[in-house]
Amino acid sequence: SPPVKDLLNQIPAYTPAKSMEQIRRELGLESVDRLAANENPFGSSPLAAEAVRSLSSDLLAQYPDGSSQLLRDKLAERLGVRTSQLVFGSGSFELLTLTAQAYLNPGEESLIPVPSFNWYKGATLLAGGVIHEVPLVNHSLDLEQFRQRINTSTRIIWLCNPNNPTGTIFTANALLDLLEHVPSHVVVVLDEAYYEFAESEDYPDTVKLLEQYNNLIILRTFSKIYGLAGLRIGYGIANESIIEGINRVKLPISLTATSQAAASASLDDHEFVSHCLQYNRQGRETLMQSFDQWKLPYIPSETNFIMVDLLQDSGPITKELLNRGISVRGGAEFGMPTWLRITIGTPEQIVRLIGELDSLLHSNE
Ligand code: PMP
Repeated sequence: SPPVKDLLNQIPAYTPAKSMEQIRRELGLESVDRLAANENPFGSSPLAAEAVRSLSSDLLAQYPDGSSQLLRDKLAERLGVRTSQLVFGSGSFELLTLTAQAYLNPGEESLIPVPSFNWYKGATLLAGGVIHEVPLVNHSLDLEQFRQRINTSTRIIWLCNPNNPTGTIFTANALLDLLEHVPSHVVVVLDEAYYEFAESEDYPDTVKLLEQYNNLIILRTFSKIYGLAGLRIGYGIANESIIEGINRVKLPISLTATSQAAASASLDDHEFVSHCLQYNRQGRETLMQSFDQWKLPYIPSETNFIMVDLLQDSGPITKELLNRGISVRGGAEFGMPTWLRITIGTPEQIVRLIGELDSLLHSNE
């Protein structure tokens, strides 16, 4: 049979994890609390659901607007950028992939924080690029380390702010300092999937930086605070030259009519967003109080998830929590095998999680 092209020899196919529904059935559970993927536990905005429901049969039969004009106009106004500074994709996954396709030549290097979102590596390999890992310092991206590792082959710097899985941020000053030292042909990707959750005064206003830097692309998503992970909507904000590069490799129409309608409607639902942010803040606080009580180290988080160190292999506990209907992420895949990454759930989910975790950790005391 025909061999795949050489570049793909070293690249395994992406295998999606088992669906939560499949796991639920296999374990014979009535329901599972999904605290493993940093989704929105409050669902999505009622306005978005209504917009999807009201799509006519005719509209579903037609190709959607390839430029997502309505959504584009609304978002550009919200962000204070030109409509030509936006690009939309099927989740930020697509935009991460396209950025590497457009800007990384085979053999050129990517600087990638570790542990961080895994797809920076996937996107780099698919483009034939070379991964150069930059380890976190105190669970945070240390931009000074990135600066030191830039060499003549560096072509993309991937930064995740706040960082997944650690929930930490780097500051505006640290970013400015790095940007002053990045050569202008190097693309800096600022993955801000969780930016709506970051409340620190030091968190950078990156959209403003576009006035000064032509080598930045900011990536955000409707999957987290807007609760639309199921519809796959991500967007990039950059100056026109970067957007134009990405448009060259973009699939013709990757945003469905449904996605465009839901995302547009979501932008009007300020009440939903502030409700989610408030519960997220409180839920994080409740979890931290329990961790303090149990004397377990945790990483203060600027996101909708938090990492806690169980001071023992977290694998068996992750498994047992799942048996009890709670799905969380074990830290082993991030090189942190004693840690758990927990999405901040609804108040009820948090109470249940704390109860189950308490009984698992302290059963023989
Ligand atoms: N970046 C980060 C840091 C993420 O955590 C995620 C999702 N977990 C993504 C990008 C991808 O998000 P999406 O494709 O749903 O927009």
